[in-house]
Amino acid sequence: MSWSVAVVGAGPSGLFAAQSLIRKRPDIHIDIYDRLPTPFGLLRYGVAPDHTSIKSVAVALARTFEAEQVHFRGLVHFGKDVTRNDLLGAYDAVIYAVGASEDLRLNILGEELIGSTSAREFVAWYSGHPDARDYGLTGVTSVMAVGVGNVAVDVARILAKDARALDSTDMPETVLGELRRAAVRDIWLVGRRGAQHAKFTPVELRELLKTPGLAVDCDPADLDGIDEDHLDRRTSTNLSLLREAQSGAFDGEVRCTLHLRFWRRPLELRGDSEVESVVLGGTRLDDDGRVVDSGLREEIPTDLVLRAIGYRSVPLPGVSFDADRGIVPNSEGRVLTPDGAICPREYVVGWIKRGPIGVIGTNKSDANQTVTHLLADLDPNSSVSTVESRRRLSDTLAARGVSPSSFDDWKRIEKAETNLGMQHERDRTKIETWHELLDLCRSR
Ligand code: NAP
Repeated sequence: MSWSVAVVGAGPSGLFAAQSLIRKRPDIHIDIYDRLPTPFGLLRYGVAPDHTSIKSVAVALARTFEAEQVHFRGLVHFGKDVTRNDLLGAYDAVIYAVGASEDLRLNILGEELIGSTSAREFVAWYSGHPDARDYGLTGVTSVMAVGVGNVAVDVARILAKDARALDSTDMPETVLGELRRAAVRDIWLVGRRGAQHAKFTPVELRELLKTPGLAVDCDPADLDGIDEDHLDRRTSTNLSLLREAQSGAFDGEVRCTLHLRFWRRPLELRGDSEVESVVLGGTRLDDDGRVVDSGLREEIPTDLVLRAIGYRSVPLPGVSFDADRGIVPNSEGRVLTPDGAICPREYVVGWIKRGPIGVIGTNKSDANQTVTHLLADLDPNSSVSTVESRRRLSDTLAARGVSPSSFDDWKRIEKAETNLGMQHERDRTKIETWHELLDLCRSR
């Protein structure tokens, strides 16, 4: 039997799923759809550009496309260019691997002011995402990241670093130029609970605290009186790192100060049209463990506020969705209706399956689980898909004016980025505009 599977989303979770499929069934045909002409999703546009060793996972993921039965079909937007019914009509199974493309909001006064944005958008900008808007950092001296997870740590580190240390990344030249001109003096990381509740991980925290030229300001009271008997290793290490940084004398020239503020949350962003300050309210936990107001107030002058309070997935047209949990309801990757019935031939992997948690590697075992169920569900005696059914889908897309890009198109983009990098004595410089990416795809 010759089966075929459509994967929607060419990020790490989708590519790990494709790899798992070919490892288990080398004869299966796989088409991987993405709305961008560039594969690798959050690995390209979310993992911090200075985390080059994680970025190198792309080399292993690119091998997915070496198998001749795997095809990249970029520039195809699910729900717009191709529908759920189109895919279910042409393939034996569909795997949704679209991640979490939106962010949570604070829902406080002033959140719409200029200078208030999400860390997700800011990360997209410095990662050269073609949809990202430009950020001007001229005149920005004080930045506040709300939330104490790894995304907050990432944006703080990128802003804290001397821009010369970022030359070795693949950031677009326009972004590097802006970071070189920037003169951020104060970076605030604000956590609504205590240091012992922070979500960041020790490797990422240590890297931030050790940034050359960065002084650390952390209230010792926030690190006192914590019952450390039952803390896990991650949390104990975080606390040791914070204590060490807070008590360490800083020698050398201070370029920037990192202010860690726990037991605080923003209540209001103030300013005429642009953010000028943030009113923080003190917090404590009530008897039920809920974050409540402690009555303390302080106002911090700030030019840029980055919400780093988590991502959220958006519903896919026609596909089952649990709005409360922000995921496609599923049983170990098998898509379910809101009532818990199985949606035959539909599967999920990655953040749309389990929520926005975990590192790139988490997606490997997650994808394996889904693929094991998918293969077990395939009918050994029949197949929905044929070469003809897939050709009909290609004709339908062509009739809609959709012309998918290929993996060869991506390789052309990659080569152009390497060439651009050479012009600036860098290994690679990302191309960040739609028109340049499309021109490269059309120059076949
Ligand atoms: P996260 O780890 O869930 O952290 C979100 C932070 O925002 C928490 O401190 C949370 O506090 C806070 N928060 C949530 N809602 C809030 C609100 N309404 N007001 C104030 N604070 C609020 O999310 P993330 O940083 O976006 O990271 C997402 C995932 O990507 C994580 O698994 C992370 O480890 C991973 N990631 C990894 C790396 C890396 O490995 N280098 C880099 C980036 C991201 P509470 O705890 O009180 O809810």
